[in-house]
Amino acid sequence: MASGTLGDMGWELDNSYTQLPERFYTSIKPTPVRSPKLVILNDSLATALGLNVELLKKDGGVQIFAGNMVLRGSIPLAQAYAGHQFGYFTMLGDGRAVLIGEQRTPSGTRVDIQLKGSGRTPYSRRGDGRATLGPMLREYIISEAMHGLGIPTTRSLAVVTTGETVIRESELPGAVLTRVAASHLRVGTFQFAANWGNLDELRALADYTIQRHFTQAFDTDNPYLSFLREVIRRQAVLIAKWQLVGFIHGVMNTDNMSLSGETIDYGPCAFMNEYDPQTVFSSIDTGGRYAYGNQPAIGEWNLARFAETLLPLLADEEKEAIKIAENEIFKYAAIYQDSWLSGMRSKLGIFNQEAEDESLIEELLRLMEIYRADYTNTFLALTFDEFNDAPLFASDEFKHWYDRWLLRLGRQAESKAGSHQLMRNSNPALIPRNHLVEEALEKAVKNEDYDVMERLLDVLSKPFAHLPKQAAYASVPEQSSCPYRTFCGT
Ligand code: AMP
Ligand code: MG
Repeated sequence: MASGTLGDMGWELDNSYTQLPERFYTSIKPTPVRSPKLVILNDSLATALGLNVELLKKDGGVQIFAGNMVLRGSIPLAQAYAGHQFGYFTMLGDGRAVLIGEQRTPSGTRVDIQLKGSGRTPYSRRGDGRATLGPMLREYIISEAMHGLGIPTTRSLAVVTTGETVIRESELPGAVLTRVAASHLRVGTFQFAANWGNLDELRALADYTIQRHFTQAFDTDNPYLSFLREVIRRQAVLIAKWQLVGFIHGVMNTDNMSLSGETIDYGPCAFMNEYDPQTVFSSIDTGGRYAYGNQPAIGEWNLARFAETLLPLLADEEKEAIKIAENEIFKYAAIYQDSWLSGMRSKLGIFNQEAEDESLIEELLRLMEIYRADYTNTFLALTFDEFNDAPLFASDEFKHWYDRWLLRLGRQAESKAGSHQLMRNSNPALIPRNHLVEEALEKAVKNEDYDVMERLLDVLSKPFAHLPKQAAYASVPEQSSCPYRTFCGT
């Protein structure tokens, strides 16, 4: 490989993570793969990162995405972290991912570039360190859909197939996803530090995280308190956004909660069709711990685990530190509720605040649940004032609610047109419906036909545009007798 092309490709990698104590990572190169092939590249993201799309598509770029070639200046590493998985604490770490570095973008930001599915690391435990094509494409589609919906998320830059098979329940094509994240610092990274590191190491990690995501905290009296407060705020706002679009993460373990406030680790996640707070898609979530309706409370639980790790930094006296931490965690519920309520008002075209709004919203959700109404399409119907023959719309209860809503809209200064515009901007024309995602994946994995996926990505990229071509993607499949199930992408 002629290394002269590297700079031309636009890579500007730095390795600030290696400034952390060695306990936090292991330097390790990705394991090369037999015959990599680029199957999808995120052109607009690549350009935003300062990368040259044409060169990335050539062999040099593909070798990098596959982990076959290490960029000049890159110190690839696997990160150490721990986590509560379904409530049980355990040591984890990047078992099938390698951070190749941090790209410094033309806009002056720093983002992690991580190869997922890049081979074994010291944290692999019994895993093979590999990933299969279907789940990597699934992460690509859903993460890009989330970005389109305006929800903070890791992004997907590229997927390559490896030319090797991976053994799961059957032999499947191997793949590597290039993931772009504000960082991969997780609640679990701090749990690792608190459990296995000393106080200096914990402080080094906290200072590094503040430096990367919360620099203003250094200007406050208690930077670690400001840090905790801001992590809590971002997480509350993020989960409110999930709820507003009906996104179910599926595996909200503490190792899958990013401190930057981005959605991370798209495994068994999926979007809800019919409104039902009990909705669970993940095959391993048999107890419904991560059901749609539980997500806000699980967020709070995870944040309490995070706050515990910071206790030694929050105050000299443990009792005082606990008081400070509890006081911050206590605020989570209100931040979440405010954020959710304001999002719901927008979805209903409401600009100002009235005490009765919450009951108006709750009543609509109650009716949607009773009449098994599609969550996304109900708001779409309200936005365009076009109602199909769904049982909800035919009910007297809904008509009563609708009149109440119209009266409510009449009690604000904004015009009807203003409300309509707010609703258009707040209610997506489409979400990545499970059957659409499955169809795209099947064509890609079985037939190596990426057209369906490319078209789906195109319509998902601007969900608030309400284009005619998006209408076909809004229909809901007939209720199947077998509920949709998702699996962890291992
Ligand atoms: P995830 O379910 O992707 O959040 O992963 C949970 C933990 O399992 C992380 O430590 C992963 O690195 C590890 N892991 C998942 N799949 C594999 C695999 N195929 N090989 C090695 N480690 C894995
Ligand atoms: Mg994970």
